[in-house]
Amino acid sequence: MTDQDSEERAAGAEEEILAPEQILDRFEGPWYPAVYCGSGWFPLIERIDAYIVASYPSYRIEQIKEKYGGLRYYWEPDSDAGIANKSEKEISKLAAVRDGVVRIESEAMDICEICGQPGENDSTNGWYATRCPEHR
Ligand SMILES: [Zn+2]
Repeated sequence: MTDQDSEERAAGAEEEILAPEQILDRFEGPWYPAVYCGSGWFPLIERIDAYIVASYPSYRIEQIKEKYGGLRYYWEPDSDAGIANKSEKEISKLAAVRDGVVRIESEAMDICEICGQPGENDSTNGWYATRCPEHR
Protein backbone atom coordinates (compact mmCIF):
# COMPACT_ATOMS: atom_id res chain seq x y z
CA MET A 1 0.00 0.00 0.00
CA THR A 2 1.28 3.49 -0.83
CA ASP A 3 1.28 6.41 1.59
CA GLN A 4 -1.40 8.06 -0.55
CA ASP A 5 -3.68 5.04 -0.06
CA SER A 6 -3.28 5.34 3.72
CA GLU A 7 -4.21 9.01 3.62
CA GLU A 8 -7.30 8.34 1.55
CA ARG A 9 -8.45 5.63 3.94
CA ALA A 10 -7.87 7.92 6.93
CA ALA A 11 -9.88 10.71 5.30
CA GLY A 12 -12.66 8.25 4.47
CA ALA A 13 -13.18 7.53 8.15
CA GLU A 14 -14.84 10.94 8.54
CA GLU A 15 -17.51 10.04 5.98
CA GLU A 16 -20.27 7.47 5.94
CA ILE A 17 -19.06 3.95 5.31
CA LEU A 18 -21.32 1.09 4.36
CA ALA A 19 -21.31 -1.53 7.08
CA PRO A 20 -22.18 -5.22 6.82
CA GLU A 21 -25.68 -5.81 5.44
CA GLN A 22 -27.12 -7.25 8.67
CA ILE A 23 -26.16 -4.01 10.45
CA LEU A 24 -27.67 -1.69 7.84
CA ASP A 25 -30.90 -3.72 7.85
CA ARG A 26 -31.34 -2.80 11.52
CA PHE A 27 -31.85 0.91 10.88
CA GLU A 28 -35.34 2.14 11.63
CA GLY A 29 -36.00 4.16 8.52
CA PRO A 30 -34.36 6.32 5.89
CA TRP A 31 -32.40 8.22 8.57
CA TYR A 32 -28.74 7.37 9.04
CA PRO A 33 -28.77 4.31 6.78
CA ALA A 34 -25.01 4.18 7.15
CA VAL A 35 -22.35 3.83 9.79
CA TYR A 36 -20.25 6.90 10.56
CA CYS A 37 -17.02 5.34 11.74
CA GLY A 38 -14.01 3.60 10.27
CA SER A 39 -14.07 -0.05 9.29
CA GLY A 40 -11.47 -0.86 11.97
CA TRP A 41 -14.38 -0.91 14.41
CA PHE A 42 -16.67 -3.10 12.31
CA PRO A 43 -15.75 -6.24 14.32
CA LEU A 44 -16.89 -4.38 17.48
CA ILE A 45 -20.09 -3.32 15.73
CA GLU A 46 -20.80 -6.91 14.70
CA ARG A 47 -20.17 -8.09 18.28
CA ILE A 48 -22.55 -5.44 19.64
CA ASP A 49 -25.19 -6.48 17.11
CA ALA A 50 -24.89 -10.16 18.07
CA TYR A 51 -24.95 -9.25 21.77
CA ILE A 52 -28.17 -7.22 21.48
CA VAL A 53 -29.85 -9.76 19.19
CA ALA A 54 -29.44 -12.41 21.91
CA SER A 55 -31.89 -10.40 24.08
CA TYR A 56 -33.78 -8.33 21.51
CA PRO A 57 -33.98 -10.16 18.16
CA SER A 58 -35.98 -7.34 16.54
CA TYR A 59 -34.08 -4.37 17.96
CA ARG A 60 -33.50 -1.27 15.82
CA ILE A 61 -30.42 0.91 15.31
CA GLU A 62 -30.84 4.69 15.46
CA GLN A 63 -27.25 5.72 14.76
CA ILE A 64 -23.68 4.42 14.82
CA LYS A 65 -20.88 6.95 14.82
CA GLU A 66 -17.51 8.04 16.10
CA LYS A 67 -17.45 10.75 18.77
CA TYR A 68 -14.32 12.03 20.55
CA GLY A 69 -12.48 9.04 19.14
CA GLY A 70 -14.96 6.64 20.75
CA LEU A 71 -17.69 4.42 19.35
CA ARG A 72 -21.36 5.37 19.88
CA TYR A 73 -23.99 2.73 19.11
CA TYR A 74 -27.52 4.11 19.56
CA TRP A 75 -30.27 1.52 19.56
CA GLU A 76 -33.77 0.74 20.82
CA PRO A 77 -35.19 -2.67 21.73
CA ASP A 78 -37.99 -2.47 19.14
CA SER A 79 -39.69 -0.06 16.78
CA ASP A 80 -42.38 1.18 19.16
CA ALA A 81 -40.61 0.93 22.50
CA GLY A 82 -42.23 2.97 25.26
CA ILE A 83 -40.68 2.96 28.72
CA ALA A 84 -44.09 3.68 30.29
CA ASN A 85 -45.43 0.31 29.14
CA LYS A 86 -42.56 -1.76 30.51
CA SER A 87 -42.50 -3.82 33.69
CA GLU A 88 -39.68 -3.36 36.21
CA LYS A 89 -38.21 -6.65 35.09
CA GLU A 90 -38.15 -5.48 31.48
CA ILE A 91 -36.60 -2.16 32.48
CA SER A 92 -33.77 -3.80 34.41
CA LYS A 93 -33.16 -6.26 31.56
CA LEU A 94 -32.88 -3.33 29.14
CA ALA A 95 -30.50 -1.50 31.49
CA ALA A 96 -28.29 -4.60 31.74
CA VAL A 97 -28.11 -5.00 27.96
CA ARG A 98 -27.38 -1.28 27.52
CA ASP A 99 -24.51 -1.62 30.03
CA GLY A 100 -23.16 -4.57 28.07
CA VAL A 101 -23.23 -2.54 24.85
CA VAL A 102 -21.34 0.30 26.57
CA ARG A 103 -18.67 -2.18 27.69
CA ILE A 104 -18.08 -3.35 24.11
CA GLU A 105 -18.20 0.28 22.84
CA SER A 106 -15.47 1.22 25.33
CA GLU A 107 -13.08 -1.29 23.72
CA ALA A 108 -12.95 1.09 20.72
CA MET A 109 -10.80 3.44 22.84
CA ASP A 110 -7.92 0.94 22.41
CA ILE A 111 -8.52 -0.02 18.75
CA CYS A 112 -7.47 1.93 15.65
CA GLU A 113 -10.66 3.13 13.94
CA ILE A 114 -9.00 2.79 10.53
CA CYS A 115 -7.41 -0.67 10.61
CA GLY A 116 -8.51 -2.45 13.80
CA GLN A 117 -4.98 -2.79 15.21
CA PRO A 118 -4.19 -1.68 18.79
CA GLY A 119 -4.51 2.10 19.04
CA GLU A 120 -4.50 5.01 21.44
CA ASN A 121 -7.11 7.71 22.00
CA ASP A 122 -5.66 11.20 22.08
CA SER A 123 -6.01 14.65 20.53
CA THR A 124 -2.51 15.12 19.14
CA ASN A 125 -3.82 16.43 15.83
CA GLY A 126 -6.34 18.84 17.40
CA TRP A 127 -9.30 16.45 17.60
CA TYR A 128 -9.82 13.24 19.52
CA ALA A 129 -9.20 10.08 17.55
CA THR A 130 -8.20 6.51 18.28
CA ARG A 131 -5.42 5.42 15.97
CA CYS A 132 -2.50 3.03 15.70
CA PRO A 133 0.96 4.61 15.18
CA GLU A 134 0.70 4.09 11.40
CA HIS A 135 -2.62 5.97 11.05
CA ARG A 136 -1.95 8.75 13.55
ZN1 LIG B 1 -4.42 1.78 12.13
